[in-house]
Amino acid sequence: MAKPKYRWAHQQERKRWVPVVAAGEAYCAEPVCKMRSRLIPPAWANTQLWHLCHDPTGTVVIGPGHRRCNTSEGASRGNRQRGRKPVTVKREAKPKANRWVV
Ligand SMILES: [Zn+2]
Repeated sequence: MAKPKYRWAHQQERKRWVPVVAAGEAYCAEPVCKMRSRLIPPAWANTQLWHLCHDPTGTVVIGPGHRRCNTSEGASRGNRQRGRKPVTVKREAKPKANRWVV
């Protein structure tokens, strides 16, 4: 059961992010994003469609994230604990070849 104090702090922290989301400047902080874009739609600012995400230890706030990504992150964490390591980390796309170099 979550401690009330922790929950209160979490809610305050989340509130601080609402204007950021509303401004269209919040990007999903989850290591693995399931959505087409990491941008959290400004229209979601006052909804529960985004969560404030924590690192795997659950103690450090890493930033806002889509609810869908936040939920699936927890699921994959559970998988890891069962000894199965899902390969989910996406590599950054390679920069395009520089066409000006012969
Ligand atoms: Zn996401």
